[in-house]
Amino acid sequence: MIPKPGVDLLTSRGYEVVINPEDRVLSKEELIGFIKGKNYDAVLCLLTDKVDADVLEASGPSVKIFANYAVGFDNIDKEKAKELGIIITNTPDVLTDTVAEHTFALMLAIAHRVVEADKFVRAGKYTGWAPMLLLGADLSRKTLGIVGLGRIGSRVAFHAVNGFDMKVIYYDIKRSEEFEKTYGAVFAEKIDDVLREADFVSVHVPLIPSTRHLIGETQLKLMRPTAYLVNTSRGPVIDEGALAAALKEKTIAGAAIDVFEFEPKVTQGLLDLDNIILTPHIASATEETRAKMSELAATNIIEALEGRTPPNILK
Ligand code: NAD
Repeated sequence: MIPKPGVDLLTSRGYEVVINPEDRVLSKEELIGFIKGKNYDAVLCLLTDKVDADVLEASGPSVKIFANYAVGFDNIDKEKAKELGIIITNTPDVLTDTVAEHTFALMLAIAHRVVEADKFVRAGKYTGWAPMLLLGADLSRKTLGIVGLGRIGSRVAFHAVNGFDMKVIYYDIKRSEEFEKTYGAVFAEKIDDVLREADFVSVHVPLIPSTRHLIGETQLKLMRPTAYLVNTSRGPVIDEGALAAALKEKTIAGAAIDVFEFEPKVTQGLLDLDNIILTPHIASATEETRAKMSELAATNIIEALEGRTPPNILK
């Protein structure tokens, strides 16, 4: 089920909408069976739907577009779709503010030990104010390292500079001198420099072959023992086993992640640690943003089916 606005938009334009009757992710066989069950013109898919070569081949020749309800599209075999002439779209921009906010929610919560503190109070352990109780770390005037300075990474940098007087160092395959000038940011030729220098590292790259395990044991060892790692991009960008070890050995101060390497499974060891905050892939999950994503995915479908170029076509 997705928020109503997108479904309403499609039905108001005269399209018949069939929604997956199961309130769960379909297996590959079920997905293929569902798509083949009717000659659908379009499929609105979620990031949990693995649209691989078999699914794409089975969807032809009727399905003209798979409209992903996400900005990331690592769940779709884009090259195969191109080969088959099937349009793939995503939902960029409308979720940028929300994901940047969630990134800050995580960064503030881990540095100020908000989750630990809440558990402490609920456990009846709060017996009085104490000078050394649950000491955390400030964000203000610290250095934020951004890995992947795209739409979301730049918005996070904006909040860091304007809200917390933070210094920004970033690593990206593309350099933006304009961004550097506007925000006094420093470009790092290598991710290693970001990891060495930052007090907070926030990851915003897409999941592609070159970013899988971009941060592993070697990279984590470069980080300061007082540094925090935040990931709202995709789980496999970080080697979760190596992260669990670094947090357990306290070679870094803490981490806060919204995405998991083996989603929805959580790597063993992480759940036992106090120096990590885990949220269940909800960085874009506000009422407003999910409604906009639903509308945008529907708009992409309408444009494609009516012979126009959808606004978010992936090349
Ligand atoms: P974007 O395309 O605007 O930004 C990605 C940036 O990463 C670009 O600047 C690109 O140049 C850079 N990049 C690509 N490959 C790189 C590499 N190998 N090394 C360094 N930099 C590299 O995308 P966006 O809209 O900012 O979204 C970023 C990612 O966030 C998405 O791909 C998605 O996976 C993830 N995301 C997660 C959630 C969530 O719910 N947790 C929500 C939205 C987006």
